[in-house]
Amino acid sequence: SCCSTIYELDQEVGRRLAHGEQPDITEKDLTLVQAGRRVSGWNRKRCENCGYETEEDFEYCPKCGTKL
Ligand SMILES: [Zn+2]
Repeated sequence: SCCSTIYELDQEVGRRLAHGEQPDITEKDLTLVQAGRRVSGWNRKRCENCGYETEEDFEYCPKCGTKL
């Protein structure tokens, strides 16, 4: 849910899940179906001083110069 990537679960593992078991799901049980896109805003920085928001990797606020 965090990266919007969709995996297909191994059939056998899926069957055990459906029966109420809690099998260990490892990487080899997963087949990539759709690569997720980066969720916008996850790395957004906000200046505490003036409230300026940016997704750039600024170290200092371009508006007021406060360290982000
Ligand atoms: Zn600022």
